[in-house]
Parts: sequence; C-alpha cells; structure tokens
Amino acid sequence: MTIQATTTPKADLLSMDMAELEAFVKALGEPRFRAQQIFEWMHRGASFSEMTNLSGGLREKLAANAVLYVPRILEKYVSAKDGTVKYLWELYDGENVESVFMRYHHGNTICISTQAGCRMGCAFCASTVGGKVRDLLPSEMLGQVIAAQRDMGERISGIVLMGIGEPLDNYDNVLRFLRLVNHERGLGIGHRHISLSTCGLVDGIDRLAEEGLGITLSVSLHAPTDELRSRIMPVNRKWNVEQLLCATVRYFEKTGRRISFEYTLISGQNDTAEEAAALVAVMRKYIGRAMPIHINLIPVNPIRERSFQASDEGRIRRFAAYLEKNGMTATVRRTLGPDINASCGQLRNQKHQSEKDTDETNIKETE
Ligand code: SAH
Repeated sequence: MTIQATTTPKADLLSMDMAELEAFVKALGEPRFRAQQIFEWMHRGASFSEMTNLSGGLREKLAANAVLYVPRILEKYVSAKDGTVKYLWELYDGENVESVFMRYHHGNTICISTQAGCRMGCAFCASTVGGKVRDLLPSEMLGQVIAAQRDMGERISGIVLMGIGEPLDNYDNVLRFLRLVNHERGLGIGHRHISLSTCGLVDGIDRLAEEGLGITLSVSLHAPTDELRSRIMPVNRKWNVEQLLCATVRYFEKTGRRISFEYTLISGQNDTAEEAAALVAVMRKYIGRAMPIHINLIPVNPIRERSFQASDEGRIRRFAAYLEKNGMTATVRRTLGPDINASCGQLRNQKHQSEKDTDETNIKETE
C-alpha cells in the first residue's frame, strides 16, 4: 500500500483505541456502534471494501479520511526444516521490517519488529547496522500480527517483541500496541503470552513496571562485567550491569513477574569458564535470592556484517551446566528457521544492500 502525500493527513485508524474510534465515527456523522464493527473488521485484516456490514457510503468516507497501516508482504520464506515463516514487510513509506512466525507445542508465536532499524549499536546485531530510521506506529506492530495471521490462516496466540528495534526506545507506541492487541474485540492475545525484550533501558523498565500489564520481560544481558558489556553493548555505558540488574529486581518486586535473561554466546568473547563464573557472581551480588533466575543461552547467529562466531556445542553445554550447578535455570534456545535467515535484521539489510547495488549500477549506467 503506497500512501500518496495529501495536504490533510489521513487518520491512522488501526492505532486508535475504541474511545478514539467512537469519536472518529461520530465526527463522520455515524452512530457509535459502527466503531465496534470497524474495530473488529480491521483487527481481522479486512480492507475498507471488505467491511460488508457497513454501508457503501461509510466505506467511502472511511477510505477518504483514514488509512489502515497493515504492512504488505514483500518477501516470505518458509523453513523446510521446521515450518518457521519469515516475512519481510513493506510499510506505507517503503521502509521494511521483519517478523518471524514460529510453531510451538503451545501455539503459534510471532516475533515482531518495533522500529525500522535500531540505534542501540549492539556489536553482534544485524538490526543496528544502518542505525534507526524511524519508530513503528502501533498500527504497524499490530499489522504484522494481523497480516501474518491472515496469511497463515492460523491463530497466533503469543507475541515476542524481539524483532528489529528496541521496544523501550519506542515506549508510547509499544504500550499502545500492547493494549490494543489484548483487546477482546480485536486479537485478544493475553499479556501472559507476550514477551518484551530490552537491551537494558533502565528508565523504560521502571516505567513499564508501573503499567500493570503482566507481560514477561526479557533482558538482553550478554556479558557479566561492565568492561565486556560496554564493549559489545554501548547501552551499558549509560546504564551499567549493576543498575540494570537492580532494575530487574524492582520490576519483579512491583509486578511479581519473573524476568528472563538472554545471553548470546559468542565464541571466545563471553563463553569461557571465566565469564560463567563472573555471571554467577554478578547475579548473586545484585539479585541474590530476590527472585528466581532464568538464563536463556543463545548461540550467536553470525551476521554478514560482523565476524562473530557461535560457541561450539561443548562450550555451550558446559556454560549451561555451570549456571545450573549454581542455582539458576538455564536453557539453550532452539534455533528455528536457520535456513531462512530467521534472526531479525538480516533480510532488511540484504534488501538495503541490493538497493544500494542497484543504485550503484544505475549510476554506472548513466555515466
Ligand atoms: N532490542 C531488544 C529486542 C531485539 S533483539 C533487545 O536487545 O533485547 C532480540 C534478542 O536477539 C536480543 O537478546 C538480542 O541481543 C539478540 N540478538 C541480536 N543479534 C543476535 C545475533 N546475531 N545472534 C543471536 N542473538 C542476537
């Protein structure tokens, strides 16, 4: 969907909550119950012309005054190994983001993007390579779920905010999305089935603790010492390991929800016995017995732009065993869709690179 530039911007209907939608239909001279009908239709992925219980006149008024920012499928890859599906979306302004649809025993989960690009600068991450272009609108986050569910023809019951972008760096839009996606007349996805992953924006974690949402918080830790963490995650120079871990304890105490820590194992960087011991020590020091500690170990997915390699299996097993021996639970994340570049940011980068290549070719041709 390409939106033409107009002098009066059209309303972003899918970002509206029910009260705003009611005010919107009222301004169009329509009765309030129309808002519910429109809400239900658009959260199922219907276009205005498909909203068949509305009058033709109303559908025309909607098309003239509003837009539905549902992303369009630009590329779709289905893993031959495990049925994981990766989408590269085109947004209204031509920007691209990615989502991954995953099948688990407990239901289908989608990993969605929250920003086009990212400005956090983590050394091993593909999403940050070109910096942040813009925040996604609530409708564009919702649209990834709606469009994937419609395309797959299967219900999506879980969401992880672990795609491109830092969710807490797009706080207001993410919060609005979390409330909309939970709405009983919309997708009705329970907050207990939603995880938000952050690289460690402490102000955002504290704010989130006050929202009363019941979502799961994942914290990308990746290193046990400030020296190492600051080297691979620049955010650590603003909020260090101590500040971050103390914030997770506050979050747990306020919400009663456990936090899961992500630790990406990078060969020779953070995966030795020394780091495992330092990790146990730092967790004991700042978390202690305040809450149960669960660490999700993720073998790093090597990206084209960086030279990091995943740790070998023996090392991963030893790292996990050491954590377990010291009172934590550790799981090694199953890699889904390795054959389809399923870790986020890679398709978007490929798209940008191929556009650059085309541009360069064009320049050459015109010379
Ligand atoms: N900005 C958020 C969410 C997006 S990244 C965050 O940092 O948590 C989701 C997870 O994937 C994070 O734990 C991130 O550190 C991790 N990740 C990023 N690049 C990776 C890579 N190449 N291999 C493995 N995990 C990676």
